[in-house]
Amino acid sequence: MPILKILRRRGRPRQVVLQLTDRCNARCVQCGMNVANVGPRGDMDGDTAKRIIDHCARLGVSALSFTGGEPFLTGPLLYELLAYAGRAGIKYLRTGTNGYRFAHPEAPDFRDRVTGLAERLANTPVRNFWISLDSADAGVHEANRGFPGMVEGIRQALPIFHAHGLYPTANLALTRLLTGETALEAASEAQFYEKACHGLSVFFQTTADLGFTMANCCYPMSDADQEKGTQAVYAATAADARVTFADWEKRALFRAVLDTVPRHRGQLRIFTPRCAVSSLVRHYSGDGAGGRPCLGGVSFFYVDRFGNSFPCGYRGSENLGPFWDLGEDGLDGKAHCRACDWECFRDPSELLGPLGDLAAGPAGWLSLARGDVSQLGLWLSDVRYFAACGQFDGRRPPDGPRLARYADRPS
Ligand code: SF4
Ligand code: SF4
Repeated sequence: MPILKILRRRGRPRQVVLQLTDRCNARCVQCGMNVANVGPRGDMDGDTAKRIIDHCARLGVSALSFTGGEPFLTGPLLYELLAYAGRAGIKYLRTGTNGYRFAHPEAPDFRDRVTGLAERLANTPVRNFWISLDSADAGVHEANRGFPGMVEGIRQALPIFHAHGLYPTANLALTRLLTGETALEAASEAQFYEKACHGLSVFFQTTADLGFTMANCCYPMSDADQEKGTQAVYAATAADARVTFADWEKRALFRAVLDTVPRHRGQLRIFTPRCAVSSLVRHYSGDGAGGRPCLGGVSFFYVDRFGNSFPCGYRGSENLGPFWDLGEDGLDGKAHCRACDWECFRDPSELLGPLGDLAAGPAGWLSLARGDVSQLGLWLSDVRYFAACGQFDGRRPPDGPRLARYADRPS
């Protein structure tokens, strides 16, 4: 069904990020759920998860992500829930991994192990499957995650996934590890920008060389951001200096993303929408009201492993109660928040905003016409590119000739 029809029929498309587990076996410096952090951990109970999925279906949720921790540590539960959500009619199902299953590719059972994983996942209705990468430098990435050999393992695993009709996305975590053994640091904003552009270019090239066909940037989220008014319930933040950036560094980093992404759009289907990145550049340039407010708590929700719903993973003080009690009247209120950069919610908020305006009738059209023309231009070019990428359907190969039209485009 065309997106405008969905918007007219029942407001904005709704998205839920469900934290299936907060257990993890990786050591990532950028995350509070790393295995070295002690504290109670566990998985969502299967019946609770199904109750949430049933309610998602009632509310017309179109996108559901099963996140962690490491979702694959839940074993058969993940596959069962993906199948259950598919039967419930939820179309955009996503999950991902830290890649631990790709470590030690030299082991004699590696190929069988990965083939089993690909077969099992391909038998679910999952639409997008992400694998995280922290650096273009394999040694730096593997040391950060704690999984030796996993980058070579990914290289060997990707053709197996492709043969099963699954096209994984590389989730590129933007931290100071981006630039490999020399941390992303510089004395001036201009130098920082240059270094980040180079790091990103190498990162995208390496991702394509590994055999990925899709990529997405995960923006840095640190504990320091909570001092600006957020409080993470989703513990994917850390105080570590490698994920903590000053505002001027973020401005330079997002400028680098804005300018580097188009140079690689012809070789990889890169989801990261430039209209969203441009808003973040404006935000970190002092335009506090720049860009669209986030749909977290309006159309998008985060559900912790106990079934509690929150406006997002970072407004932990706003527990909205069990997700299955969330009524229609609590939805589609007025978006207002710009407190963080969480790409899971900020990117789609920017992308869906103009569609919401178009669906709203004359008042929305007027607001669109009065808006920032350059921002609208970026949005239009994102929409065209998204069409060329088959709307990032991770069950379809890239359309090579169509994508090639984006090769070597500076913007
Ligand atoms: S970023 Fe992901 S893989 Fe790394 S510690 Fe956190 S949950 Fe685990
Ligand atoms: S901007 Fe969105 S994701 Fe970030 S704190 Fe606000 S509602 Fe949450």
